[in-house]
Amino acid sequence: MTESPVAVVTGGASGIGAAVVTALRERGYRVGTLDLSGATKADHAVAVDVSDGAAVAGGVDEIRTQLGPITALVTSAGHYEMAPVSQISLQAWQRMLRVHVGGLFHAARACLPDMVGRGAGAVVAVASELAVGGGDGDAHYAAAKGAILGLVRSLAAEVAGRGVRVNAVAPGPTDTPLLSDDSPWRAADYLDTLPLRRLVTPDEVARCVQYLVCDATFSTGDVVNVNAGAVI
Ligand code: NAD
Repeated sequence: MTESPVAVVTGGASGIGAAVVTALRERGYRVGTLDLSGATKADHAVAVDVSDGAAVAGGVDEIRTQLGPITALVTSAGHYEMAPVSQISLQAWQRMLRVHVGGLFHAARACLPDMVGRGAGAVVAVASELAVGGGDGDAHYAAAKGAILGLVRSLAAEVAGRGVRVNAVAPGPTDTPLLSDDSPWRAADYLDTLPLRRLVTPDEVARCVQYLVCDATFSTGDVVNVNAGAVI
């Protein structure tokens, strides 16, 4: 019997991460999640704050014990807030970097050895359109997401010769709980500026992640924009 491949998805309890859990399970993966919430549709869920490196390492160990060696990692855990730079507290700045950049760093450190050891695997980081284009009121979020792209490219260069691919998706505004009902990203006057005139859906982002994990065997160090044309 062929062993099912195993994926770790951070932020798998909601939104894009939850859609990725479903999309990877459809392709035969058994999925373990790391999320502040332990309630996910995954095969194994661990409640973890991804900014805590020891907790992430412990959570990945638990998933490995339950499901087997890790062959894919998708990092989707994150939060969003807007503020002018003068109103971003030091604590908010550090939290943003620790969750987004630290979350990818800790999860990659914990998962890559399995993939490198087997000579096969894929990592996909969920960045943002704002990593590419920046945004008014988005200094700390865009800085964190931009750092993710640098980390993805460097990890890709480091493990490409060992059979492991590392890519990113950069979604535009996506219809998930991350965007509050009164978010300016949901406003009709903003959506009218988008070439496709609409939000992206979490399933659309998840299908792109699924493609990068399962099918895009030719691609590494790349960023796929999933953004309704917001950055052309
Ligand atoms: P969401 O709020 O629906 O889901 C985020 C998930 O991450 C939640 O389950 C939450 O519990 C988890 N999480 C948050 N902080 C965490 C932490 N420190 N440790 C562990 N888990 C944590 O949001 P979403 O829209 O699905 O966002 C997923 C990713 O996509 C985020 O990285 C976000 O920045 C990015 N993104 C979202 C949009 C959008 O418009 N929704 C656009 C571009 C990028």
